[in-house]
Amino acid sequence: MNQKPTQKDLWKNQQLEYLHNCFIGISNLTCSNSDCPLVYSWGDIEKKQSKKGKVAFYKISQGKWVVVDLEKYEENDLGGYDNIEIKFKSGKSQRTKPTDYVEPKKDKGLISFISGILPNKPKPPKEIFLKDEEIVLFFNNSSKTSNLLDAETIYLDDLWETKERIKWDQKASKKKIINWVEQKVDGEDKAYKIDQWENDYIFNIHNPDITNEIKAHEVYSTQNNKEREQLWKDYHEELSELKEVYGIRHNIQQKEERQNNPEIDMIKSPFLALERDKWRERMKGIKDFEDKKGCNGIHTLSYGSYQEHQAEIMLQGQVENLEDKEEEENKEKPVEYLENHAKPN
Ligand SMILES: [Zn+2]
Repeated sequence: MNQKPTQKDLWKNQQLEYLHNCFIGISNLTCSNSDCPLVYSWGDIEKKQSKKGKVAFYKISQGKWVVVDLEKYEENDLGGYDNIEIKFKSGKSQRTKPTDYVEPKKDKGLISFISGILPNKPKPPKEIFLKDEEIVLFFNNSSKTSNLLDAETIYLDDLWETKERIKWDQKASKKKIINWVEQKVDGEDKAYKIDQWENDYIFNIHNPDITNEIKAHEVYSTQNNKEREQLWKDYHEELSELKEVYGIRHNIQQKEERQNNPEIDMIKSPFLALERDKWRERMKGIKDFEDKKGCNGIHTLSYGSYQEHQAEIMLQGQVENLEDKEEEENKEKPVEYLENHAKPN
């Protein structure tokens, strides 16, 4: 059945999209090679990671890779993956050779016998398996799950309800004109009145005591609507909790309070821990991509702002310098040793 989406469905989808973008937008990958296939596809990889928790990068030819859905995989004892199945945009699937694969027997006699009976039966096409070196798997986090797992049922339904109550309150507290009338207006029973109060701008209240010809009218408007204030507070607090639970960066305190406050680091730790987990998991994929000669550049991955990315690049540079230095020192050692020990005094 193709039902039209409700306003609630549309709103929930929009919220999910926005929240996914919060994750996708803060992941930055750069490469020292300006023509890096991984950098070009990073946005698509992140999108699938965020929504599905897993994705595959498939090598079409040297230097050309595409992002595809990762449908199936099994972890093996060697830290690698078996029985991988990917799905292309067209819907076509391809898999690696199954670990329990048995080569089909080629019984020429039987085949010619069968094709004798069924002359038009087409030969089954030979399956082309994926090769390990043309596929790189990426996972969103160490539990290999999507970013907003169950957020819909845990938070978005409640948030929608609060929003509906705010809407109701807005409508109910609209400015109204109350007419005091002498006689009951036909058809206006109690239920009708409640209904009118929620919907109407002009509202009749009859009071038999009124004998004045002109009757009275008064303008009603809500003041100090504490209830709606509370509803908005509830809404923002729940949204804030959602962001915290799912590790989305958000402003927890006012800007001026945030400066030089060591407590902030503690407050930041929930999303930093999740980001580190994600970083580690992505680095495995990036390393695999480098090992499979996808690109020979130096890849730097960071989370957050431009400044944070620059810091990451500098840090990586320092680590590499240190490694080079160590390597050099190790090379020099035998020479030094010879110089110090083998020289005749
Ligand atoms: Zn690269």
